[in-house]
Amino acid sequence: MPRTIETRVTEEDKKIETSLRPQTLSSYIGQSQIKEGVSIAIEAAKARGEALDHVLLYGPPGLGKTTLAGILSNEMGTHLKVTSGPAIEKSAEMAAILNSLQEGDLLFIDEIHRLNRQVEEVLYPAMEDFCIDVIIGKDSSSSSRSVRLPLPHFTLVGATTRAGLLTAPLRDRFGLIYKLEFYTVPELTQIIMASADKLEVTISLDGAKELARRSRGTPRLANRILKRVRDYAQVRYDGAITGEIAVEALDMMAVDRLGLDHVDRNILSTIIKKFDGGPVGLDTLAAATGEDPGTIEDVYEPYLVLNGFINRTPKGRVATDNAYRHMGL
Ligand code: ADP
Repeated sequence: MPRTIETRVTEEDKKIETSLRPQTLSSYIGQSQIKEGVSIAIEAAKARGEALDHVLLYGPPGLGKTTLAGILSNEMGTHLKVTSGPAIEKSAEMAAILNSLQEGDLLFIDEIHRLNRQVEEVLYPAMEDFCIDVIIGKDSSSSSRSVRLPLPHFTLVGATTRAGLLTAPLRDRFGLIYKLEFYTVPELTQIIMASADKLEVTISLDGAKELARRSRGTPRLANRILKRVRDYAQVRYDGAITGEIAVEALDMMAVDRLGLDHVDRNILSTIIKKFDGGPVGLDTLAAATGEDPGTIEDVYEPYLVLNGFINRTPKGRVATDNAYRHMGL
């Protein structure tokens, strides 16, 4: 069993995630404002017999953006096509994807901020007027001309870890923009109970709460922790997860009582010990911790800021009193 819980997405996650993903809006736990907004939009679009407006979902990884895209297509009763920003390199590839869609289909583009400029430009007329501009003839020859081809009315669902990285023309073309929030402990407890049910794992309410407290507000992590603790309970005990077994297993896996893992703690102790508590710039912090700046900013920092361990100031990141206390310094 690995000693720590990985915060990034692994191949193994992808497999179990597919089986644990809720399929309907009513089984999607938490994010109540988003659910209310999308259920109204779905009902209205259905009543008008139109495709759903384009949706932009942003927030840290593992909070349910892909899951929500799947639910939107289920609820609308349409096909879902999934791709990602880095996977589409040429504008012709984007045109081909758009061309393959049927009326009402939902196209999910994960990491949409990573689309290159030429590819992104194909999306503008597609999103706004449901058409693509195709150049006929050689690019530079005088006989080449541009033709507009109509597309079916589709819905684009874009996901990004940071909406700030999107260009304004792209962002402006989304009718519905939602920020996903970290989940509360009661919400995560519910998610863990539902996942345990699907995985046929016996877990007490105390056990589920303990796991929830240590899941960094993130359903992906909650599911991952549940699987690890299940293994522990199976090898060391009779397989059922109680509160005590959960504490024992999580302590062994070095997930602390607030869910901070070794990377979170490394970030905090680096700011405190190497930079006297800060302020320290993102790139310097990344170099000192050996982490990628983008990963710190998207994955680790939002939770540390939310829990009052780090303040972001114009001069850089500063560790709070709370961080010193939590690290026992
Ligand atoms: P993202 O696309 O934001 O990185 P995902 O949609 O892949 O996150 O979610 C990761 C996992 O967390 C999913 O497989 C799903 O099992 C679980 N999950 C996410 N959001 C919810 C939710 N609201 N209710 C229940 N489970 C959820």
